[in-house]
Amino acid sequence: MFDAHCHLDFSSFDSDLEGVINRTYNEGIGIVTCAIDNVGVNKTLNFYNKFKDKRLFMTFGISPINFDENEFKNFVSNVETYKDKLIGIGEVGLDYYRINDEKTKEQQIKNFKNFIDLSKKLNKKLVIHSRNAEKEVIEILKESKINVMMHCFSGSIEQALEAIDLGCIISIPTTAYYSKGRQKTIEKIPIENIVTETDAPFLSPFPERMTNRSNRNEPLNIKYLVEKISEIKNLSFEKVSEITEENLRNFFKF
Ligand SMILES: [Zn+2]
Repeated sequence: MFDAHCHLDFSSFDSDLEGVINRTYNEGIGIVTCAIDNVGVNKTLNFYNKFKDKRLFMTFGISPINFDENEFKNFVSNVETYKDKLIGIGEVGLDYYRINDEKTKEQQIKNFKNFIDLSKKLNKKLVIHSRNAEKEVIEILKESKINVMMHCFSGSIEQALEAIDLGCIISIPTTAYYSKGRQKTIEKIPIENIVTETDAPFLSPFPERMTNRSNRNEPLNIKYLVEKISEIKNLSFEKVSEITEENLRNFFKF
């Protein structure tokens, strides 16, 4: 069982990171933590060195809304330095939420293509963030002839199947524990193309408004998602744990 994408460098984990990692590890769950800026990269490297014996893996990216040229230059040098420690590059991609001007969109596309070139050069798979831009992302993937992990996939079922045709894996977030729309996606796509993620500290399977629990998500909660997938796919919990982990490992080759 694996949390294919979370952000353990975020400050909400500062006070109890060791406990968070240990209780995840104790249940046999692996973690891929993702830094989305250069400050996050340094923080992630620090705790990675401390906990790397615990099924902990890393990706580095720059989220499309935080992009700037200087940040990108430092990022490239970080990725080149630590490339043997990274399983992939990301999250990178397109975020058109609340963006209406064409110039910003064009700039995001240009940046995205730079990340694609870098991933080809270093032979690393990409982890894609795409919000309100699934159609554009899929077009660019087709053009660039690459396959990626679609993190927190929120496109339509047709788009998911189109991405799968390109060889992508679809990462389902823990919100599928309650979201009927996401449950439908799980139902309609093959288990062989699904991986599981928390996107912690975000996307808790137990939103505060429903349960009065703390809203911070953490990698351990991946088990609730695996439970939901096993229910929908009519497979055992163990089988879903095994297949989704295998999907992730085969894709990133780690
Ligand atoms: Zn994320």
